[in-house]
Amino acid sequence: MSISDNLKSVSQRITDAALRAGRDPSHIKLIAVSKTRPADYVTEAMKYGQLDFGENRPQELAAKAEQIGGSVRWHQIGQLQKNKVRHIISYAALIHSVDSLSLAEEIEKRAAAIDKVQDILIQVNISGEESKSGASPSETARLCRDIAKLPHVHICGLMTISVKDYDYDQNKRLFSALASLASEIEAEKIDNVSMKELSMGMTHDFEAAVEAGATIVRVGEAIFGERDYSLNNPMQNINQ
Ligand SMILES: *Cc1c(COP(=O)(O)O)cnc(C)c1O
Repeated sequence: MSISDNLKSVSQRITDAALRAGRDPSHIKLIAVSKTRPADYVTEAMKYGQLDFGENRPQELAAKAEQIGGSVRWHQIGQLQKNKVRHIISYAALIHSVDSLSLAEEIEKRAAAIDKVQDILIQVNISGEESKSGASPSETARLCRDIAKLPHVHICGLMTISVKDYDYDQNKRLFSALASLASEIEAEKIDNVSMKELSMGMTHDFEAAVEAGATIVRVGEAIFGERDYSLNNPMQNINQ
C-alpha cells in the first residue's frame, strides 16, 4: 500500500464513521502523524492534498518545518517540556498537549516575543491512568479559566489519548466523556476559551473517536506504515 492509497482509505473510514454517527464528514480534520519519518514522507503526502502533520518531538518538528517550509500546518501532539517551547513557537499551528498553567505561561512568553497568538488544546487524562500525561478532568475547567487570562494563548478545545488495549466500546465511552467535559466547559462561556476542537483518536481507535465527536484525528501508522523504532533513525533520538 502506498501513502496515497492509505490516505484515501483512512479518509473513507473517517467519512463512514461520521455518517454512522449522523455527522458531517467535512467537520473532521485528519492530521498525518509523521513522527520518526523522514521529510520526504511528508512531501509525498502533500502531493495528495494532506497539509496537516503531527510531531511529538519539538526539535523534529522544527527540523522538518525548516526543511519543508511552505504551506504545512504543524501540530505539536506529544508531551512538551517548557524548555522546548522555543523550538516550535514560530512553526506550530496548534499545540495539542498543554496540561499545566506553567507550560501555558512559557508559551505566552515565547508567543508574545514574536507577536503571535498561539492556538492550543488542553490535554486531558480522561482515562485516569497514572502513566498518562494530561490534566485530570476535575481540574480542567479551572486550568482553562487560568490560561484564558494569557493574551497570546488561545484555547481551542481539548485533546486526549485513549488506552492502547481498550476495545471499541471502551474507547468510545472514554471519548464521549471528553466530549461531555468540553460541553460543560463551553457552557461556562469563558472569555478567550473555545471548545470547538476535540482532538482524539489514533490508528487503532479513530473511528470510535469520530463517532464520539472528534473534530481532529491524529493518525500515523495507518498512513505511513508501522513505525520501526529499532531502525537507526537519527530523528528519533532527538530530545529523549
Ligand atoms: C504517535 C501519536 C499518534 C499517532 O499514533 P498512530 O498509532 O501511529 O496512529 C497520535 N497522537 C499522539 C499524541 C501520538 O504520540
